This record gives sequence, structure tokens and C-alpha cells, in this order.
Amino acid sequence: MSATDNSKILLRDTEEKYYGFSIKTGINSNLDSIHKKGARIYMDFDGAYDVAVIGGGPGGVCAALAAAKNGMKVLLVERYGFLGGMATAGLVNPFMAYSTSGKRLSSEIFDQILQHLALENALDEEGYVFDDEVLKSVLDNMVLEQKIDLLLHTTFLEAQTDGARIESVTLHNKSGIIKIRAGIYIDATGDGDLAASAGVPFEVGRPGDNACQPMTLCFKVAGVDSGLNALQLRDALTPILLEAKMRGDVDQPREDVLVFETLQKGVFHFNTTRITGKSGISGLDLTKAEVEGRRQVFEVFRLFKERFPGFSGASLIKTAAQIGVRETRRIWGQYVISGEDVLEGRKFHDAIARSCYPVDIHNPVGSGTILKHLKDGDYYEIPYRSIVPCGVENLLIGSRCISSTHEAHSSLRIMPVVAAIGEAAGTAASIALNDDVLPADIDGAVLKEMLLEEISERST
Ligand SMILES: Cc1cc2nc3c(=O)[nH]c(=O)nc-3n(C[C@H](O)[C@H](O)[C@H](O)COP(=O)(O)OP(=O)(O)OC[C@H]3O[C@@H](n4cnc5c(N)ncnc54)[C@H](O)[C@@H]3O)c2cc1C
Repeated sequence: MSATDNSKILLRDTEEKYYGFSIKTGINSNLDSIHKKGARIYMDFDGAYDVAVIGGGPGGVCAALAAAKNGMKVLLVERYGFLGGMATAGLVNPFMAYSTSGKRLSSEIFDQILQHLALENALDEEGYVFDDEVLKSVLDNMVLEQKIDLLLHTTFLEAQTDGARIESVTLHNKSGIIKIRAGIYIDATGDGDLAASAGVPFEVGRPGDNACQPMTLCFKVAGVDSGLNALQLRDALTPILLEAKMRGDVDQPREDVLVFETLQKGVFHFNTTRITGKSGISGLDLTKAEVEGRRQVFEVFRLFKERFPGFSGASLIKTAAQIGVRETRRIWGQYVISGEDVLEGRKFHDAIARSCYPVDIHNPVGSGTILKHLKDGDYYEIPYRSIVPCGVENLLIGSRCISSTHEAHSSLRIMPVVAAIGEAAGTAASIALNDDVLPADIDGAVLKEMLLEEISERST
């Protein structure tokens, strides 16, 4: 039998099963036709979803869980082989503030994630530092328990629209290109990939030069033997970095060493590299940023090993699977949250999430970080209208790229807040489908009662 015959046999069965749906490849077992189509296999789901969530970070997971909890048939799509987004792929840790003056601001599903982590001894006592490997497994279990259809290793490609509606979206994975349909789509890519493809206007970066917050490649170091906690370590390592910068021994834009505890003894998490002037929505820039991020990681690790005694037996055990991207597109929605809204602690009749986190802008072009705090004990609210995009009626935003200014985005982007935004998007999608109304026509006050009253009850 020739090699060509063999290939025909392998390709004869062109029907795949995804969650009970038969997928037609549209191609018979004919090698020629595949070659003519550039070796791509086009597939179509024989079914449709109520809600399709694109992106499995903190926002996407909570969006999918909320929609499923409310009885929706949900598909969750993630390009990596695990869920968690920046919390796992980016090694971002810990969860930033979700309470102020004893008032808990976190959402229900985020709290459930914390509970699961705690049960696995994968959360510190204060509830902020977590084990990113355990988080992957916790999220798998939570999603599968809710009977959500999960497609990992699957990348969103493009939205097909008809007027103001998304008709379908195409995805790509090892099986080929898949087309799926849903009543409501939730963009949880962090970057607004789906919204931008569907034609929703967006902004990028700060006013004036559109520069975005810098990227950071996070890493973990084991075997640190200094007897210092993370804060003391920061104070010990920062002068070493600054002196090396002054002598021209290292080329790192950051002004200090940002280091956090982990749950493992002697293992520290570093969020300290800084890659400026690169766009998180450019394939070429992301490539350059990853390479520059690794250069900075190894440079700073070698420096500390050479000049800080506590590092003599230390090993660099992990760099993140992907560089940390703080800011890309911000999708235009029915309300744009401003820095003033954040700093004045504004409250809204259609609030869906609450936060006390400061404005936190890492210099997009060099050293320095701007931190502006809210009044002691105060918090601001995020209105539902900021997750309802302009121009596309069956889409909601369930991640950091909601409608906000550069300044407001720097505050609301933290994981507990994005989790609450995702939960709100999933809940709103289910209300819209159950009541047969557009997401834009939901009564935000009802949503507020559903999402935030519960928080008040849990806080007491
Ligand atoms: C360096 C850095 C440090 C940070 N520090 C902290 C911190 O200490 N504490 C804190 O609380 N927050 C921190 N943050 C902020 C926080 O991590 C993110 O803002 C948050 O994770 C955003 O959640 P998300 O779900 O919107 O997006 P992400 O976490 O980015 O998740 C998006 C998901 O969508 C997937 N995706 C993207 N595009 C596609 C596509 N086209 N097709 C399929 N899947 C796709 C991605 O793989 C990812 O899993 C930090 C962020 C960075 C970058």
C-alpha cells in the first residue's frame, strides 16, 4: 500500500463527536480536496449553545459558571490547555484586595473558588496567596460539575455578523476550524478579540500616545535562604538592582523589586520585569516581549545570585507560560468608567461589582508606578452598562477589557474584580435569554439586587 493510500484510510472517518454533537468536516476522505483547501478541515457544530464564553481566565470561568448555574447550555473556549488566564498562564499572584474596613466586596463565585482552594490547602490564611497548579484543577472541577462544555486548546478566530448580531464564531484547534453558534456571546479574552472582530469600537492605551501599561514576565525562585519575608526581601534586593542599573550592569526599567510569598517555603514569586512599548494584541510584539522578558528574568536572577547571599543556593524554577499583559483594548460600552468614578468611590443604580483597589499605573514607557488610593474604607461600583458593548446586541464583555478609561482600567483589572464582572456577564446573559430581551434592555437594578444583595448578606 502506498503512503497516499494509507493517508486516505486515516482520513476516511471525517465525523467527530463534540459533546454529543456530530461535527461534519465537509470533506470526504479525499486527500486532494484537503490539499486544495490548504490542508484545513472546516467543521460545523450540529447544535447551538445558549451562551458561548470565549476565554477561560478569571472573568470567563466565572461568566460560564454563572450562566450554567442559571440553567443555560454553555460552551467555554480557552486557547491554552488549562483555565485560569493570567492566574495560571501568567503566574500572577496573589489576588489583590477584595475587602475594605471589614466589608467584603468579592462576588459569590470568586468566594467559591477561594473555598475550593482552601479545602485543598492551596490558599494562605488571609485568602490572597494561592497555588496556581491547584487552581487549574479546581477550575476544571467547578466547570465540569456545572456540565459546561469545555474546549481547551481552542483559539477564537473570527465573528460572523448579520447587522448588529453575531451569527456564529469560528474557532481553531487541532481538529481544524470549527464554527459554533450561541444566543449570547461573552468576550472574556481580556483583549476584546471577539468584540473587536464583531465590529465594536474600542480604545487602546492612555490618551495622547495610546501607550499601554507595560508587560511583565513573572517567575518563581526556589531555595531562597535569607530568613526574610517578601517585604524584607524587596528592601534587600532593590538597592542591589538600583546599584547595578546605575553602573550599567543590568538593563531593567523597573524602579524596585516586586516580590511576593508563595505557599512553599523558600519559594518566592517575582513580578519584577518590565517590557515597555509593546502591544499585547500584536503577534510580533508579543514574540519580542517574551524574548525580552526572559532576558530580563535571567539577568536579574544572575545578579541576585551573584550579589545576595540568600540566593547562593537558589534556582529559577519557573517562568510563566506567557508574558503578563496588563492592558490592551478597552471596548466601548454604554457607560465609560472614569478615574474620577474610581477615586470618588461612585455608586450606581445598576452596579454589578465593587472594588477598593487603587489606580495602579505601571509606567508604560519607563520607570515608576502611579498609585492613587480611594478614601480609607471607601469603594467604587462598576455599572452594568460598562459591560454592554455598543453596536452588537447579543454580546457582553466578561473580562478586564470593559468600557473604561486607561486610569479606571488600571484599578478594575485585578482578578477578584474581573471575576465579579464575569459573573455579572454570565448572569445577565441568562436573564436576557430567559426573558427574551436584549442584554441592553435588562433592568440593571434587578441585576444589582441579584448580584450585590447576596454580597451584603454574605458579609454580615
Ligand atoms: C504582570 C501582571 C501582574 C498582575 N498582578 C496582579 C495581582 O497581583 N493581583 C491581581 O488580582 N491581579 C493582577 N493582575 C491583573 C489580572 O491578572 C488580570 O487583569 C486578570 O487576570 C484579567 O482577567 P481576564 O479574565 O479578563 O483575562 P485573562 O486573565 O488574561 O484571561 C483571558 C483568557 O482568555 C484566553 N484567550 C485570550 N484570547 C483568546 C482567544 N483569541 N481564543 C481563546 N482564548 C483566548 C487566554 O488564554 C486567557 O486564559 C496582574 C496582571 C499582570 C499582567
